[in-house]
Amino acid sequence: MMFLLIIWIICGLIASSVASSKGHNPGVWFLIGAIFGIFGLVAVMLLDNRKDQQNVEAHDANQQTDVNDTRECPYCAERIKKKAKICRYCGSVVEPLVTDDTPQRLSPAELTRERILRKAEQLGVAAEPLQPDDAVRFTHKGQTHDFFILKRANEFLDSLEDE
Ligand SMILES: [Zn+2]
Repeated sequence: MMFLLIIWIICGLIASSVASSKGHNPGVWFLIGAIFGIFGLVAVMLLDNRKDQQNVEAHDANQQTDVNDTRECPYCAERIKKKAKICRYCGSVVEPLVTDDTPQRLSPAELTRERILRKAEQLGVAAEPLQPDDAVRFTHKGQTHDFFILKRANEFLDSLEDE
């Protein structure tokens, strides 16, 4: 009887140490090992390794931030830093992209204009920003339309949408 008790405890200890190395609850697995003996050990061996998964997830997250921080070199298509001025693979001089470190502050009017320029593009209207920052020029069917009020420019696009 003493012998069986020792086997149970040993099975429990092995199960709990394997479980904790895999990132599972060692207390629970001590009980499973002690109660089910060799079957408990088989079960703990089959447990998936949570630590590996966590590492993989953490690694993925790292890669994600890497990707956000990089872009493709327009010349050789290798991934380089957004802030890079020279591609480290092919040595081409590249335009550094604006990053979060140096946020480009757009005024509300400029943001609205950006949206209108994109909308124009989708509608196939040639559009260019004018000075001041709430003015825009559309070229549509060979005619230029200058708007100094973005609301009017937007209404113009809306009327094209309805056509
Ligand atoms: Zn390159």
